[in-house]
Amino acid sequence: MQITFQFRLYPTPEQEQQMNRTLDLCRKLYNQAKEQRETAYNQEGKTITYAMQQNDLPALKKEFPAYKEVHSQVLQDCLQRLDDAYQRFFRGEAGYPHYKSADRYVSFTYPQPGAVQKTFAKEGTVYLPKIGVVKMNVHRPFDRVSVTQINVKRYGERWMINISVKVPNTEVMQAVESAVGIDVGLSSFAALSDETKVDNPRYLRKAEKRLRRAQRRLSRKQRNSRNRQKAKRKVAKTHQKVARQRKDFLHKQSYRIVQGHDLIAVEQLKVRNMVRNRRLAKSISDAGWRKFITYLSYKAERHGKRFVQVPAHGTSQTCLCGADVPKTLAVRVHECKRCGLIQDRDVVSAKIILQRALKISA
Ligand SMILES: [Zn+2]
Repeated sequence: MQITFQFRLYPTPEQEQQMNRTLDLCRKLYNQAKEQRETAYNQEGKTITYAMQQNDLPALKKEFPAYKEVHSQVLQDCLQRLDDAYQRFFRGEAGYPHYKSADRYVSFTYPQPGAVQKTFAKEGTVYLPKIGVVKMNVHRPFDRVSVTQINVKRYGERWMINISVKVPNTEVMQAVESAVGIDVGLSSFAALSDETKVDNPRYLRKAEKRLRRAQRRLSRKQRNSRNRQKAKRKVAKTHQKVARQRKDFLHKQSYRIVQGHDLIAVEQLKVRNMVRNRRLAKSISDAGWRKFITYLSYKAERHGKRFVQVPAHGTSQTCLCGADVPKTLAVRVHECKRCGLIQDRDVVSAKIILQRALKISA
């Protein structure tokens, strides 16, 4: 299995400039590649694949020499990300891929780091091709020989490195690997402890908007008029369709999660309390979180998996190390002063839910 170590990076001003430049070029490539796929499809009905776009990279570099500043693996990864986004869309797991703005393209990846002797030549540093030897704060030892991927991520002013390491498949590890914690996302439908997120599909958001519009139209019609009857039927039909789509989405997602894990952990949500809070109300009730939990629990039971609900108290206000990290709803990033963990707040909550569940079931 893979585990990821996250350390803080301390680039020099020149290195930081180059890292920002890399993000900028990666984002451009991502958006260009997306546009190319769309144009080919819309104008000629042709499908452009990842392999085709990757084969075009040398020609692209010739035409736009700026791309030579970015390591070729990193460029390939941009195209891979785009392809992944399309694949998720085709499988119905995510909405249609967006163009990325600068504040949404904040990391770049070396999918196959080079030789250990070169990458970790000096203690407390990492060699990033095309960037240089960058200082990093290694607060935990890790097996350098088994590094499989390096990802560099910007959190506002800070830079972090995520180093993925392959570790042996002992039984204990497997038990942990196949367990997952899930948190209600605020910016997405749900966040998982494996650091992935489930988005509300765009077709669903659109359908819900159509429904609200139909309801407004109905409320303007005169009582007992024939138009009102018509509008009423229309609302009922739209409502049915949205409900069907939402149910379908929840079934797909819960099935996927139960298939992939032996232990599934969620929070005991007091939905009624939460709905009173107006900011949360929309995302909670729209997403049908309660229904989702029901689906998860009966699918888990049917497939012989374990389903654990943990007390919700403070899952968004503490750190994995046990420290208190208070934050309001507006704060998107968890930042622990004690252990240095910096990560998306919903993902951290999901990890804490998992941590609690493993404690309960141990
Ligand atoms: Zn901490």
